[in-house]
Amino acid sequence: MNFIKQTALSLGFDACGIAKAEALSDDAVFFRAWLDQGKHGEMHYLERNFEKRIDPRVLVSGCQSVIVVLMNYFPVSLQPKTAPKIAKYAYPTLDYHWVMKTKLVELEQKLIEYYGSDCVNGKLQHSFVDSAPVLERRWAERAGLGWIGKNMQLIHPEFGSFCFIGVLMLNIEADYDVPMKSRCGSCSLCLEACPTKALDGVGLDARRCISYLTIESKIEIPDVFHAQLSNYVYGCDICGDVCPWNRKKSKPSQHSEFSVQPTILSFDYESWFQLTEEQYRQFFQHSAIHRAGYQKFKSNLNALQNNEV
Ligand code: SF4
Ligand code: SF4
Repeated sequence: MNFIKQTALSLGFDACGIAKAEALSDDAVFFRAWLDQGKHGEMHYLERNFEKRIDPRVLVSGCQSVIVVLMNYFPVSLQPKTAPKIAKYAYPTLDYHWVMKTKLVELEQKLIEYYGSDCVNGKLQHSFVDSAPVLERRWAERAGLGWIGKNMQLIHPEFGSFCFIGVLMLNIEADYDVPMKSRCGSCSLCLEACPTKALDGVGLDARRCISYLTIESKIEIPDVFHAQLSNYVYGCDICGDVCPWNRKKSKPSQHSEFSVQPTILSFDYESWFQLTEEQYRQFFQHSAIHRAGYQKFKSNLNALQNNEV
């Protein structure tokens, strides 16, 4: 195993792959059409930095290699069955952005010690966790870490799809991995399970996705979707949970950094509806849930309640 991968694994990443930095020409065509159809909804930031998003060499001058790392976050325990559901990635007390970024900085420091400071572009940000115009899942696929399934998630053949993805761009060449081909085959379980029909086998209409409706969209969830929320109040795991690769392969994460915020496991249905703004801040100030904001979170809860009436 080469130095980069060995170092990444020694720091606690579960998997590491490397892809040659080049333009993602096919993705550019697909992404342009997707934006033109408005399937990104209110996520207008996706319209910006198109060239950077499809070519890492435009984003980070001098970039030659894209290092991709994964960390499994599948939780040890799940919420009580009746509680309003939180997507599993948001269970940890600590926000994954912070955990992954901290580890990527450690990796970068070790690579600089080994290869010299010119191995990164010190003038530009070059490590990314869901925070920049980078098609992380596509780079993971190109780095041989899995394939993008019909549910639009990266599926690692050993860990499934409940993994966080981090990317570090290097200004040196490396040994590149072979991209993985799709192993979805004729399966369409995720398409059938999606309650809002947000998936069509080739892409996602974010405007219909519960994850978008409960987090990214700043408006109240339209009435038409209330009956399809499937008890989700933050994110949605339905198309991941039904995937046979997850059902067979997902194992509880061993990472202490992703230990579950106790409230997630202890709150029953009633407790969530009594959550105050102060408790929301106290419990979730360092967690991914904080991203929604208290008012949006409460409004999501109301959407669930409306459906009960
Ligand atoms: S996250 Fe939920 S709503 Fe979104 S595509 Fe998957 S199943 Fe459908
Ligand atoms: S449920 Fe089936 S079609 Fe969907 S991502 Fe998993 S393997 Fe692919």
